[in-house]
Amino acid sequence: MHPFLAFAEAKQPAIVTLIRELARCESPSDQPQAVNRFVNLLAGRLEGAANVQTLPGGRFGEHLRCEFKLPGAKPGGKILVLAHSDTVWPLGTLAQMPLREEQGRLWGPGVLDMKSGIAFFVFAIHTLRMLEIPVRRNIVFQVNSDEEVGSETSRKFTEEAAKKSAAVLLLEPGTGLTGKLKTARKGVGDYTVTVKGRASHAGIDYEAGASAVVELARQIPKIAGFTNLKQGVTVNPGVISGGTRTNVVAAEARVDVDIRVAHAKDAMALEKKFRALRPVDKRCSIEVEGGLNRPPMERTPAIRGLFQTARECAKELGVALQESSTGGGSDGNFTAALGIPTLDGLGGVGEGAHAVNESILLDRVADRTALLAMLLSQL
Ligand SMILES: [Zn+2]
Repeated sequence: MHPFLAFAEAKQPAIVTLIRELARCESPSDQPQAVNRFVNLLAGRLEGAANVQTLPGGRFGEHLRCEFKLPGAKPGGKILVLAHSDTVWPLGTLAQMPLREEQGRLWGPGVLDMKSGIAFFVFAIHTLRMLEIPVRRNIVFQVNSDEEVGSETSRKFTEEAAKKSAAVLLLEPGTGLTGKLKTARKGVGDYTVTVKGRASHAGIDYEAGASAVVELARQIPKIAGFTNLKQGVTVNPGVISGGTRTNVVAAEARVDVDIRVAHAKDAMALEKKFRALRPVDKRCSIEVEGGLNRPPMERTPAIRGLFQTARECAKELGVALQESSTGGGSDGNFTAALGIPTLDGLGGVGEGAHAVNESILLDRVADRTALLAMLLSQL
């Protein structure tokens, strides 16, 4: 058995204990104090092994950045490992969804996305230190506090660190119950389309009104029609609102739209289409706000190369690693868009991220930890 795997298997109970400890410290994106509590907990685990600092998170919790000095590292490009401390689960979720081990899994809020990935990293570093394995590059670990809500304040820190890096590894969950890595992600954006009409009394003065609700209803099929599944473009009018009362011709109505694109050029084409929306009823007007938040992570030759390395490492551990693409965004979208080879999905193997069945497979804890340790030492 590969020595990293043997080490991780021996440490498995301790790794699971750490995942439970991290998951017990609830950290929803919109609760900066709770997130900071989590950040302190994690920083405590890494102090001594790394130079630990926090970065300002604005209205969110603080971001954490740890720079490791491990033997063997040459100056120059670093390895950036990205994680996020925030979860989508509100404080108190544990009361309804307690952590539990059952059917070979650990269940509970945040265990997959992504407290297990963070625990794997802590123990991957531990593996390298205990087995005295030299690395090739310095390792930087950054934990963002606002990933689940768009990475508004962490983005600049992520990009700054990525530019100094030879490769970026992300601890997001793997895809499916086999834990495929993610080598392509769609770009994500949103638009708000607001229709302004003319209000009037629906009984007394109906004809004087120009209904924003009716006009919006005409626009929505056009907007949804921007979808092109073959091109990997989806456009989802997800939330509508408008009008005030049934007896008032509506003065205003709006729709919030989620967009996903596989290629950067499709985002530009979509932008043009949104801006070209014109009202059918000329008494109405249309305002468009929004755009792309996360550029797509496209599967470049460098990303393929990084995956090949990971696949060879996994083979030594007895794991047949596969790759996948996903419609969901992560902070890897930012780093890949800068041209830095980025590999995502190295965290937990399981299912139910953001859902009540969130869980990780316990028999994949050791090999994922070992794979991460191998990548950290070989890249
Ligand atoms: Zn995540």
